[in-house]
Amino acid sequence: MKSMSREVVIVGGGLGGLSAGIHLRLAGFEVTILESNAKVGGRANQIEVDGFTFDTGPSLLNYPWVFEDLFKAAGRVFTDYVEPIPVDPSVKFQWRDGTSFSLSSNLQSLMAECERIEPGCRPNLLAFLHDASIKYRMSFEKLVNRNEDNPLKWFSSLTLDEISRLSVWRSLNGELGRFFKKRYIREAFGSYGMYLGGSPYDLPGLFSILSYGELAYGLWLPKGGIYGLVRGIERLALELGVAIRTSAPVSRILVESGCVKGVELRSGEIISSGLVVSNVDVPTTETELISPAPSKVRLPGMTPGVITFYWGIRGMVDGLGHHTIFLPEDFRLGFDELLNKKIIPRDLPFYTAVPSATDPDLAPPGDTAMFVLVPTPLLSELPNLHSPEMVTLAKQRVLDRLHDDGIDLDPNRIAVERVYTPEDWRQQFGLFDGSAFGAAHTLFQVGPFRSRNYSSSVEGLYYVGASTTPGTGMPMVVLGGKLTAERIQARA
Ligand SMILES: Cc1cc2nc3c(=O)[nH]c(=O)nc-3n(C[C@H](O)[C@H](O)[C@H](O)COP(=O)(O)OP(=O)(O)OC[C@H]3O[C@@H](n4cnc5c(N)ncnc54)[C@H](O)[C@@H]3O)c2cc1C
Repeated sequence: MKSMSREVVIVGGGLGGLSAGIHLRLAGFEVTILESNAKVGGRANQIEVDGFTFDTGPSLLNYPWVFEDLFKAAGRVFTDYVEPIPVDPSVKFQWRDGTSFSLSSNLQSLMAECERIEPGCRPNLLAFLHDASIKYRMSFEKLVNRNEDNPLKWFSSLTLDEISRLSVWRSLNGELGRFFKKRYIREAFGSYGMYLGGSPYDLPGLFSILSYGELAYGLWLPKGGIYGLVRGIERLALELGVAIRTSAPVSRILVESGCVKGVELRSGEIISSGLVVSNVDVPTTETELISPAPSKVRLPGMTPGVITFYWGIRGMVDGLGHHTIFLPEDFRLGFDELLNKKIIPRDLPFYTAVPSATDPDLAPPGDTAMFVLVPTPLLSELPNLHSPEMVTLAKQRVLDRLHDDGIDLDPNRIAVERVYTPEDWRQQFGLFDGSAFGAAHTLFQVGPFRSRNYSSSVEGLYYVGASTTPGTGMPMVVLGGKLTAERIQARA
């Protein structure tokens, strides 16, 4: 067994980097996090302007147990650091024909809503929830929450019956079709595919656990916005003695004779360390940071890009709850245009979040803080994504759709506007090819098939975050931080 440096440098202070830092610190390591931006949080960042507070990325917190466990690992209580506010009804789906469907963690409300859309579907909803609860538990207990590189060993933790129950070989749409006849419920639960980088017609049926997880554990907004969560986790890290340096961009991860030697900051400063964890998107780390560059890099398929709008609106916006997903008339075509034809879908699927509806302190009294997310192809697929014309086109399609759906938002009421294009996301946070959610979650990019949380060519170099295991989303990268820390300890 080799003796191991007890010092570790983490490049990037996103949620994965912070979680890895906390777990490594708890295991006795001296941890330094180097973050290029002025604030930690990564994609879960914050913009404050003229009394409006916007979260840049995530707008809802799910699987609160993951965050509770993070604080519990440190002997602390989550709610002493973060004040989660329940958002219920959590998400409303809206179609062009006027149909709407709202999700709630209250079973009676959910059943009534499903019954309204698909009369007689109550037993099927209960069967769906029961089935997905088993899949969810199996996935987290046996698959997601552990380091395993060997596909056979990964699956061998499950019985044959359990494997078939996971519906890995059936599409998500096919899986939902087993329970729901009406397209509305199938499209609502299948729409999550967009953030996983696949259409529900291609993604594995296992992902029915996503909608289940949200229904079972609820959706939440921390007081102060999602950034309230980041602040709480940052505070925990600092209390434990993790050193966090912001405005400290790393230009190179230094490698000699196949071993990591430390990092070089853009300022020229060199920090030596035999252990480096990169929280920067894995393909960005491998193509831009490792020095000398590896001779061969396997680039994963990525999730789409996004154009995000942050609007400070005078007055209230009637008809929009906390989170509304606008779906196109032809659902399959929307996915096809985005993922195969590589264009911004003409009948745009997009979502809005109005966090000030849940926490009024996020906007001046009587005003509205609003976030809009428009999915786009990647930078390499649609190169003029950063152009003002493209931004104007996306904005106009959003405003037209809001108008068509009877939501009164006179653009003259938008007093504050900030926009991030995929190029902004790339530049500001190092997101590879402008991909918003990291490596896609198609069948051969999950579990042991996904980029591992350690480099196979550079000893001492580890990864954490959306593009490595277990995957994307705030709870996943926080779990990933624990897995990376365990990996480092296991290889000591
Ligand atoms: C628009 C949007 C909406 C989303 N909505 C949700 C949601 O509602 N719920 C949910 O759970 N998830 C959501 N997600 C996904 C979630 O935000 C991410 O999966 C998660 O935050 C990624 O964390 P990460 O650990 O990979 O780090 P990242 O957030 O990618 O952070 C990496 C950090 O590294 C820093 N960095 C990059 N290069 C360097 C360098 N050279 N030197 C030093 N530091 C560097 C970056 O500045 C950044 O702080 C959303 C994402 C986006 C973009």
